[in-house]
Amino acid sequence: MAEGSERIAGGVTGPIAGPVTRRTALGISAVGLGAFLTACGSPPGSASAPVVPEAPAEPTEPVAPPAESEPEPEPEPEPEPPVSQAPVLDRVPAPAGPFYGLPGEGNLLAWTVDDGADSAVVAAYAAFAAATGTRLTLFATGSYPAWAENAEALRPLVESGQVQIGNHTWSHPNLTALSDQGIIDELQSTHDLIASLYGVDARPYYRPPYGYFDDRVLAVAASIGYTAPTMWYGSLSDSGYLPSDQIVALADQWFLPQHIVIGHLNFPPVTEVFPQLSQIIAARGLTTVTLNDVFTSEFHP
Ligand SMILES: [Zn+2]
Repeated sequence: MAEGSERIAGGVTGPIAGPVTRRTALGISAVGLGAFLTACGSPPGSASAPVVPEAPAEPTEPVAPPAESEPEPEPEPEPEPPVSQAPVLDRVPAPAGPFYGLPGEGNLLAWTVDDGADSAVVAAYAAFAAATGTRLTLFATGSYPAWAENAEALRPLVESGQVQIGNHTWSHPNLTALSDQGIIDELQSTHDLIASLYGVDARPYYRPPYGYFDDRVLAVAASIGYTAPTMWYGSLSDSGYLPSDQIVALADQWFLPQHIVIGHLNFPPVTEVFPQLSQIIAARGLTTVTLNDVFTSEFHP
């Protein structure tokens, strides 16, 4: 899987765009800076309509004294998986063009994961998301059977919005080398697969394989609604095999506020260090988000 070159846009060799360039690319450099601070834990509307509890009625009967016999021990409650709630954000329109990070200032991390060459890795990511509430955007390469094989596990996460599926083409070509129709075919076939497996519209987000695009690619993709090519600013560099300790080191380097970080669903090592990656996120006070958590679009108003 000749994907190593995806590392050039944010791997160990360093990002291709400095912070100033990135901000410019965002095009939303100063939208509601303060408003991007998250307010986790309270569902939308709860702040404006607080529930006033009724005053407890005075007891009319004396409370029975505790029985002298030993009370039955309470059964141990089953640990419940965490409920992943979308952070309450002032969403802004999705960028109309390539973007490399999240707008404004805050503590958000867009952890994006691509391809799907190893179905077991996709399954492990799904289990990790379900167990921890981590919010992820998965960019699916449609030709991999992993997307059908794991649809049952992923579908509830997609339906709740915790996991978002984006379009990473059908066969992972360099789009700049294809005809206009070839570009459309690559995006449309995976678009249709995502719709049939997960019941969602992946637009406007796509990730051009290897990060390669040009003005023609952007225009052709936009003609079918794919207007937001999602780049990154930091990589776990695991499109090819990378030992797990190096993945942790790259997460330590790149899991930073308002970053879009790219990982891959191709090799098992990352699945062995999920606790360490979660620890980095927690220690830095980062909140994981999907793209739909942050952005509005025609398809996700
Ligand atoms: Zn890829």
